[in-house]
Amino acid sequence: MAPYEIRLIGDPVLKQVAAEVTDVDAALVRLADDMVATMYEAPGVGLAAPQVGVQKRLFVYDLHDDTGAHVIVNPVISEGRGEYVFEEGCLSVPGLAWEIVRPDEIHLTGYDLDGNEVSIEASGYEGRVFQHELDHLDGVLLVERLDEDQRKAAKRLVREMMMERRSSPPPSVGGLSFA
Ligand code: ZN
Repeated sequence: MAPYEIRLIGDPVLKQVAAEVTDVDAALVRLADDMVATMYEAPGVGLAAPQVGVQKRLFVYDLHDDTGAHVIVNPVISEGRGEYVFEEGCLSVPGLAWEIVRPDEIHLTGYDLDGNEVSIEASGYEGRVFQHELDHLDGVLLVERLDEDQRKAAKRLVREMMMERRSSPPPSVGGLSFA
C-alpha cells in the first residue's frame, strides 16, 4: 500500500501556496521516499508535496528514461519560450484530462536532497511535468489553466467525478493522468 493517499480536487490543501524548504533533514528525505512510493503506486510521473497534504516546496518525478526517480527542492522556473499543446492529467483530478497550452522550453532550477544545485533546460513532455508540479506548489490545479468555456465544462465533469467516486473507482485514461 502506498504510504500516502493522494489528495483530490476540493481538498483545501491543494489551493495553498507551499512554504520554502529550509532544512533538508532525515524527515524530508523520508517524505521524499514516501512520495516516490506513492507516485509509483498511483502510477504517475510526478507528485508534489501538497498532493500528499504537506505544505512544502518539493516534488518528485520519474520520466521513465532509465535515470530513476528525482527530487527537486525549492524549484523555480524561469524563461518560458514557445508554446506546447499537451493533453494533461493530474493524479488529484483522476480520470480527466484536457489539452492545455503552456510554454514549451523552460529553465528549472532548485536543489536535490544533497543540497546540490540543479539546473535543467527542459522542453516538451519534461518541461510540461515540471510546470505542472510547480503549479501544485503554488496552489494551482490544471483546471485553472483552461480557458473560460473549458473551465465551465471541467467544473461539471469534476462534480460528476466526485459524485461517482463515492460509489466506484475513477475511470482510467491510460498514461495521461500523470502528475
Ligand atoms: Zn497534478
